[in-house]
Amino acid sequence: MDHEYLANLLYPDIDTVPDDMEKAYPPRDLPEGAKVTRFAPSPTGFIHLGNLYGALTDERLAHQSGGVFFLRIEDTDSKREVEGGVELIIDMLDKFGIHFDEGATSDGDNGSYGPYRQSRRKKVYQTYAKDLVRKGLAYPCFCTPEDLNAIREEQEREKLTPGYYGKWAKWRDADLDSIRRELDAGRPFVLRLRSEGHEGDSFKFDDLVKGKIDITANFIDHVLLKSDGIPDYHFAHAVDDHLMRTTHVVRDESWLPSLPFHIELFRVLGFRMPKYIHTAQVLKLDDGKKRKLSKRKDPEFAMSFFYSRGYPAEVTLEYMMTLLNSNFEEWRNANPDLPYTDFPFTVKKMSPSGCLFDFDKLNDISRTVISRFSTEKMYSSSVEWAREFDPELADLFTANPDYAKAILSIGRGGKKPRKDITVFSDLRSYADFFFDGLFVQKDPFPDVFATEKIREVLSLYADEYDESEDRDMWFARIKSIAERTGFCPDMKEYKAAPELYAGSVADVSMFIRLALTGRLNSPDMYDVMHILGRDRSVSRIRKKAEEL
Ligand code: GLU
Repeated sequence: MDHEYLANLLYPDIDTVPDDMEKAYPPRDLPEGAKVTRFAPSPTGFIHLGNLYGALTDERLAHQSGGVFFLRIEDTDSKREVEGGVELIIDMLDKFGIHFDEGATSDGDNGSYGPYRQSRRKKVYQTYAKDLVRKGLAYPCFCTPEDLNAIREEQEREKLTPGYYGKWAKWRDADLDSIRRELDAGRPFVLRLRSEGHEGDSFKFDDLVKGKIDITANFIDHVLLKSDGIPDYHFAHAVDDHLMRTTHVVRDESWLPSLPFHIELFRVLGFRMPKYIHTAQVLKLDDGKKRKLSKRKDPEFAMSFFYSRGYPAEVTLEYMMTLLNSNFEEWRNANPDLPYTDFPFTVKKMSPSGCLFDFDKLNDISRTVISRFSTEKMYSSSVEWAREFDPELADLFTANPDYAKAILSIGRGGKKPRKDITVFSDLRSYADFFFDGLFVQKDPFPDVFATEKIREVLSLYADEYDESEDRDMWFARIKSIAERTGFCPDMKEYKAAPELYAGSVADVSMFIRLALTGRLNSPDMYDVMHILGRDRSVSRIRKKAEEL
């Protein structure tokens, strides 16, 4: 067989050789130990928290070592492509604090190892494909889907390993005449690897997270290029990660079954292998059982949904770090104020088996992180979130920034800040009563109290409220009003003989709170009244007394 002739017959337009590519993509000039990693999504526009887990691993490895983190779009399967999908992915990762040094951008490429969209790298792949044909390491296969089906059915019947290999590989040793006949007839072909592996061979492989694993050698003549001349994942992975000088491939463990094929590819292509980190999958508890996240069943794990709920980027990253490294929490407790990027992240502490996503823990972290925001940060983050997801609230906040900041400053600062807000989507129900237009009576006045009694308390309080009184005087006045309206000012005394009173001072406070905020639970009432201001506070109380 004249392989050179066959190579030119199959790829007449390719005039480049691997050496040209090696020159165009030279080894990177980076300091010793610097890692080069990539995030390589399909342009579906959809990314979930499992993807973020991988992306953060990539990002930490690169940036912690002074290396490069790049974005490559794996768009060789147009069926999976969604209009604007690339922009959605870039935008979402950016919002969650994951930034790339180079790679695909919404309007092109940034960096000298591109193009970073696989669909634009046809010539690169075909250069290597042609070279493999030239060396007798790849061959065209003209099998139709029906031929392949027939092979599969027979293999099933004979209980053999399915796939295109050995005696089933009809085109592996076809002669030039038969190949030319098919080409002349215009029949499409795929390019296959002429595998040199043997069924049953095995060897050890070192994965940085999984440790030493047993690999069964590949012996299937897998497809390298599809009939449109574009590779699918495998061949593109080897060529791109070699030329883009990736040092560490971080990917989901679901790729492990393809690893034997990839190892063979790197060998036949003469490439040095990168290090591999096959990450555990992110799992959730469903009815007490752990299972993989599912796009269909778990919309709350889509990053877009997560974002719309208003988890701040720093919370998500903080939580991801607890999933990524088992010793992160210990470090965090010892270093509550350092940025997470100061943590010495290591693949050695990554779990080789599934890691469980725990929403309760995430929410807990979120409450803590938000409670530590300064008022200024809380204000700017809230407005940024609300502009997109609650424009009415954003307008109210920005119309009077000082008022909004005063609301957001309640219980903030100090040693034990209040943890009332878990996500930005809690803001509306947290703050709505401060705005007359959003005020609603969420909780009714309990009907165990006579309306007349409540009215009497509220009217008296509205008459007497004095904004200049300090916290102690303010409470003393509530007690005094309780006493004068038949409520017991002292809780202990009240509990000893409740039948002697209309209620207690706690009930009086509750009436005022219900009138002011429309609810039974609210932030500190003294603070609330000072933010609302005298006029608004008194008119709300008076209005409620009249309406009852
Ligand atoms: N495009 C592949 C995916 O979306 C990337 C896997 C990898 O990172 O190599 O699963």
